Amino acid sequence: MSIIKNSATDPNKILPMRYLWARQHYKDGVANNWTPEEVSMQKDVEQWKHPTFLSDHEKRMILWNLGFFSTAESLTANNIVLAVYRHVTNPECRQYLLRQAFEEAIHTDTFIYCCDTLGLDPDEIYNMYNTIPSIKEKDDFVVELTKSIFDPTFELHTDEDIQRFVHDLIGYYIIMEGIYFYAGFAMMLALKRQNKMVGIGEQFEYIMRDESLHLAFGADLINTIKTEFPAIWTKAFQERIAGLIRKAVELEKRYAYDACPKGLLGINAEQFCDYVEHIADRRLERINLPAQYHKENPFPWMSQSTDLSKEKNFFETRVTEYQSGGNLDWD
Ligand code: MN
Ligand code: FE
Repeated sequence: MSIIKNSATDPNKILPMRYLWARQHYKDGVANNWTPEEVSMQKDVEQWKHPTFLSDHEKRMILWNLGFFSTAESLTANNIVLAVYRHVTNPECRQYLLRQAFEEAIHTDTFIYCCDTLGLDPDEIYNMYNTIPSIKEKDDFVVELTKSIFDPTFELHTDEDIQRFVHDLIGYYIIMEGIYFYAGFAMMLALKRQNKMVGIGEQFEYIMRDESLHLAFGADLINTIKTEFPAIWTKAFQERIAGLIRKAVELEKRYAYDACPKGLLGINAEQFCDYVEHIADRRLERINLPAQYHKENPFPWMSQSTDLSKEKNFFETRVTEYQSGGNLDWD
């Protein structure tokens, strides 16, 4: 019995469970429930429409992040539903994948809500993956990287197939969700720290918290497959994966420079790049590969938003109330 390749066992028989971490990620996801409409955009709309409140540089940076995220979220939703779900047959993992798919729908909804409330041109935002080279390069790289799992004839039979599958899972969970989102998160949360576009900033905090769970599930899934099929985790394969991650880091740094060439509010563009390298090392370690960059975290405040521990109320608003479950007494 293994986490993949067991179509002989009944995918509807969830009990007894074997992978309790998958169950825990599912419960953590449910405890984090939120929807974009709960976050007021009133102040954001005033700031966005004000002739001088935001600089052109800040506005451009916001648009680029909305442009990248708006289509990246549907890309990840499609990956889950159309590709990953088909091959991960274990029932408790599938329960998590359904939850994750719902969260990706919430994230997609967030960018619809932002476009609507700020009165943005959807053709501009939803075309940036074609029109902005450093966004297109990121998307093209990850689409190319996750090609096998989208191939309708792809099946998991040999060790080579499993290696290919793990390669694609790393492309999707570690690179797309674990690296590509983080320059954008840092920029939008840096802006929020200056009380600019706080509604969008809060939505990005919620998204980042969800994404850190997606990444945790993805890493557990990848590491479990490695444990169950140790023959696939060869030295050559490990080096290939590290090379892909280095390439992704280059693309993310290029994006960070392009989206925010002049830096932001006391942060220079290099610090966003250092942050990407710092994050990439954490991702490498998560799948037991050696760190490559050894950069200190230039934004310690970011980890307060990502590494949320249950007992603490990091958010000013609703998170704790959601986690208290049945008490429907939030404002
Ligand atoms: Mn997402
Ligand atoms: Fe995600």
